[in-house]
Amino acid sequence: MEQKKDYQILLYYCYAKIENPEEYREQHHLFCVENNIRGRIIISDEGLNGTVSGLKEDCEKYMAYVHGDPRFAKTEFKIDEHEGHAFTKIHVRYKPEIVHSSLRHLDPNVRTGKHLEPEEFKKMKDQEDVVILDVRSNYEHELGRFKNAITLDIDNFRDFPEKVKELEHLKGKKVLTYCTGGIKCEKASAYLLEQGFQDVYQLHGGIIKYGMEAGGEDFEGKCYVFDNRIAVDVNKVNPTIISKCHVCGTPSDRMVNCANPSCNIHVPICENCGWEMEGACSTECKEHPEKRPYDGTGYYQKNTNGYNPYKGLFRKPNKDQILKLHGEAQDSCI
Ligand SMILES: [Zn+2]
Ligand SMILES: [Zn+2]
Repeated sequence: MEQKKDYQILLYYCYAKIENPEEYREQHHLFCVENNIRGRIIISDEGLNGTVSGLKEDCEKYMAYVHGDPRFAKTEFKIDEHEGHAFTKIHVRYKPEIVHSSLRHLDPNVRTGKHLEPEEFKKMKDQEDVVILDVRSNYEHELGRFKNAITLDIDNFRDFPEKVKELEHLKGKKVLTYCTGGIKCEKASAYLLEQGFQDVYQLHGGIIKYGMEAGGEDFEGKCYVFDNRIAVDVNKVNPTIISKCHVCGTPSDRMVNCANPSCNIHVPICENCGWEMEGACSTECKEHPEKRPYDGTGYYQKNTNGYNPYKGLFRKPNKDQILKLHGEAQDSCI
């Protein structure tokens, strides 16, 4: 029986100055708690970045809340349907940057690469003198990337600037950057321009929007995402598998969390190896005394007992909120 998908997942970012980010964080957090929005949101002096989930009507309220603020009126939401929440909690955090980049001096509202809509990117990517540059990290591009894309050996986006030194030979080319939802490219393409690259473009809305609007053609493998889904299909035109089972090396895009909680790495492990290794990524992890029981999914629900969604709010909850919170706590103590 097909499940009703009455939840949505929203992915978005907005570069816009926020004068009192800590105070705004508090308001924003409260709005999420009161409207049963879960996920991860970063608030900083330079803007907002989030992935959240909620009932369709709650997501609509949330988008109206963000758009209702003139600073964030231009925010674009990538909307996916989902069965249930894609997160177990809500985190709204203040950080100095909305993506940790070591490029705080760059303001994409002043200068950044030219935005390409998915259809424009699709037309341009195979042209002569064009190179496609994946600005994401190893664990992401190992699972999926554009055909012929240049990838960088980085474990974190903050190492991107260092790697640009290896791209000097591409200075005369048209460089098309892409990432998951477009946010990293705002800074990455701005940095390329600063370093003297002339012709720099970025895939607006990232791989996710490209999948929704241009069918995902020539995206090979799956796209790593930062919610409970872990990886999503993008390509409806010519899909392939590029990742290999961490244990036996056969093609596999079954992402699994190692059953050893102190390892917990996210790697592809094929169906057979999953059972054979009891969900562990290595023999050592298989023998770990705290290894979690493997149920064939490799996904482990975090223990939410005692979780308090108001924790971290500066303001004390009022009586209504405490009553609501009580209901919430019961829900999450399964
Ligand atoms: Zn295997
Ligand atoms: Zn492991």
